[in-house]
Amino acid sequence: MIRTIESIIGEINKVKNILVVGHIMPDGDDISSVLSLTMGLEKLGKNVRGVIDWEIPGYLEEFPYVKEKIKSYDCIKEFPAELIISVDASSPDRIGRVYDHFKFARSVVIDHHATNTYFGNINWVDKFGATAQMVLRLNKMLEIEYDKDLSTVNLLGIATDTGFFKYSNTDATIFKDVAWLVDKGGDIGFISNMILENKPYEHLMLYKDFLDEMRFDDNIAYSHITLDMLKKYKIPPKDSPSFVGELRSIKGVEVAITFSEAEPNVYHVSMRSKNWFDVSKVAVHFGGGGHPRAAGFSKETSDLKKLEKDVVETIKLLMESYK
Ligand code: AMP
Ligand code: MN
Ligand code: MN
Repeated sequence: MIRTIESIIGEINKVKNILVVGHIMPDGDDISSVLSLTMGLEKLGKNVRGVIDWEIPGYLEEFPYVKEKIKSYDCIKEFPAELIISVDASSPDRIGRVYDHFKFARSVVIDHHATNTYFGNINWVDKFGATAQMVLRLNKMLEIEYDKDLSTVNLLGIATDTGFFKYSNTDATIFKDVAWLVDKGGDIGFISNMILENKPYEHLMLYKDFLDEMRFDDNIAYSHITLDMLKKYKIPPKDSPSFVGELRSIKGVEVAITFSEAEPNVYHVSMRSKNWFDVSKVAVHFGGGGHPRAAGFSKETSDLKKLEKDVVETIKLLMESYK
């Protein structure tokens, strides 16, 4: 691990212009990793551009520095990137059009997904609870000074990818990193207010309809959010809420699935498991990826019912192999 970080530092030392890229459909870990690395490299005196080829959901857009430091794809077309660092993305399709620029620059992949395809010149893929923990290690080795802002931004990803320190990926390194960041001024109260206590009223109204659509098949719970359901409450698709955690929280449920229509007839499928089932295998089978307890993929179809049936049947078949 140390040797890989050292070779990443070697790449960073060689260049001035660095592009930091996060994944499409960004989550808290992604935003946190892009921002923490961008801010860290800026402190080193580099010319850095953070980019995500996707709209930022409302609940993350308001977070400090997001609007200022994370640009859309068009803003980087003219950026003379010598080095591209991808964070929290498991495969090239996850970084959208930014992957086209890999032809013209050196590339580094920093990620914590076991399903990573090693698409960079240098790949640091490790089993951390959050990619933000890996960025913290890199920044520390670069001797970046952590102030209150950088600590809070870096803490965001560790908080969100562990479900605020309660998922099974919450190991001792998480608490050590959190203690270090909080000591440097990281504001966990602010993060939890921004992320957990900031739900638009319309999302709760939509939740009623989501529950009406909920189905069970043995220990599998699933439901969906269509564009029509979003339209009813005037929620833009980029702000589509994820209720998959709520489904998983039901007593007796091992696997929870939500099917969210992102654009007409294109569904993002989110899967979560509670104790023993590996949902990343299902995600890979359908062309996506993720972790054993949280994984996803996207699928184009005009037949949602059939997609739901295919996914549920695939899970049931795989469950047989555990017996
Ligand atoms: P989500 O259900 O979208 O919150 O994603 C759960 C986990 O699966 C996250 O770690 C995502 O990065 C990963 N994931 C979701 N969709 C995909 C995809 N299409 N390809 C690869 N990984 C994905
Ligand atoms: Mn992510
Ligand atoms: Mn992550």
